[in-house]
Amino acid sequence: MRTYDAIVVGAGPAGSAFAVLLAEHGRSVLLLDKAAFPRPKICGEYLSPEASRILDRLGVLKTVDAAGAVPLRGMRITAPDGTVLEGRYPTEGAYRGYRDHALAIPRLALDQILLERAKALPVDVRERHRVEDLLLDGERVVGVRAAGPDGAAFEARSLLVVGADGRQSVVARRLGLVRAHALRRMALLTYVEGIGDFGDCGEIYVDPPDYAILNPVAPGTVSLSLVVPIEHAAPFSGKLDAFFHARVKQLDHLWPRISAMRRLGPVMALGPLAYRVAPPRHAGVLLVGDAAGFYDPFTGEGIYTALRSAELAAEVAHGALAREDCSRAVLASYWRARRAAFRDKERVTRLLQGVIRRRWLANLVARGLARRPDLLSLLMGVIGDFVPPRALLSPRLLIGRRHS
Ligand SMILES: Cc1cc2nc3c(=O)[nH]c(=O)nc-3n(C[C@H](O)[C@H](O)[C@H](O)COP(=O)(O)OP(=O)(O)OC[C@H]3O[C@@H](n4cnc5c(N)ncnc54)[C@H](O)[C@@H]3O)c2cc1C
Repeated sequence: MRTYDAIVVGAGPAGSAFAVLLAEHGRSVLLLDKAAFPRPKICGEYLSPEASRILDRLGVLKTVDAAGAVPLRGMRITAPDGTVLEGRYPTEGAYRGYRDHALAIPRLALDQILLERAKALPVDVRERHRVEDLLLDGERVVGVRAAGPDGAAFEARSLLVVGADGRQSVVARRLGLVRAHALRRMALLTYVEGIGDFGDCGEIYVDPPDYAILNPVAPGTVSLSLVVPIEHAAPFSGKLDAFFHARVKQLDHLWPRISAMRRLGPVMALGPLAYRVAPPRHAGVLLVGDAAGFYDPFTGEGIYTALRSAELAAEVAHGALAREDCSRAVLASYWRARRAAFRDKERVTRLLQGVIRRRWLANLVARGLARRPDLLSLLMGVIGDFVPPRALLSPRLLIGRRHS
């Protein structure tokens, strides 16, 4: 049996990006996915401005643009009391994004483009291969056991196994790393048409305990996601379509905007959204993207986090493979790099969750931000992953000049 340098389980953005980056280092990579691409993925399909940097590094940004990715220069956020904030990414001052806009693009297209990029390199890509178990040698992961397209058993060995298999990660589950999260929400998502012009912004409607996001993902096509407490939706299991329609009508400022909509597809549901994943105790294994945990789609950084974590993991994997040492101690530097890269942003997203859960606080913060476009623009840069969150704590900014 051939031994690869790395086996990557899952060919979403995290897995394909990792495979590309490691193959560029001349390493042998096997990339397995249970699906046949293009495959659907429940997602708001917004890519933060900084995701473009990594897509460019991967050599696919021009292809993504050519596939019709819609540029979004900001977000129009409507508070429960109707206060409207038009948050735009900063285009001047100390912080500039890789681009001055985010992108909206269907996952069917984005994930296919990334997978094609992996296929263009010497990556052994196998679709319709479902990984069912890990091969262990004591405290070391040494490979995977999968079922091929016809159900035939398939085993492969490697120095490193990378779990990029998303929220149902078999790699994280097999190693007993998945933990429940106290935030209990679910998302309902569909595609609609017949909504008026969006200009160059996506739209968010905050109406505690719910929020909704509208993203124009292609000409005439809008993705509509509604996030609700899981206990509100649970009694309607099996009738989620009816629940979705009743619920969007209850969002005072959303409903007038979408009342003329025509549905283009089914209502898809997913929850609970948030879960935690502990770092592995085994050698020979890394987790990237959603396989390493997920919080909430409100600030839309999931794809960026998938790509950035793949970047960080590929760097560590390259060093570990060069030293022929994929021990837990060596791979732990990936978890440290992850923490350093995402910790501050995670604090901001937790803070924002506290705000959007309370009607009075959401209104208060929205009215405050409406008076401070400079602060709002900086916050958009933080959400867009190119302004360091500590910039929000600058004393000059906090006591700074007020705009009327
Ligand atoms: C409702 C909702 C809205 C969201 N909106 C946004 C948004 O607007 N912007 C944003 O940036 N993020 C958003 N996210 C988050 C984003 O979708 C994820 O963070 C992102 O898809 C993670 O990428 P990934 O590559 O880690 O996992 P995935 O994209 O889930 O890919 C995992 C891959 O692994 C494969 N796989 C799974 N199990 C196995 C197995 N056993 N064997 C082989 N293959 C396997 C799957 O087929 C899949 O192709 C949203 C999430 C939700 C739930």
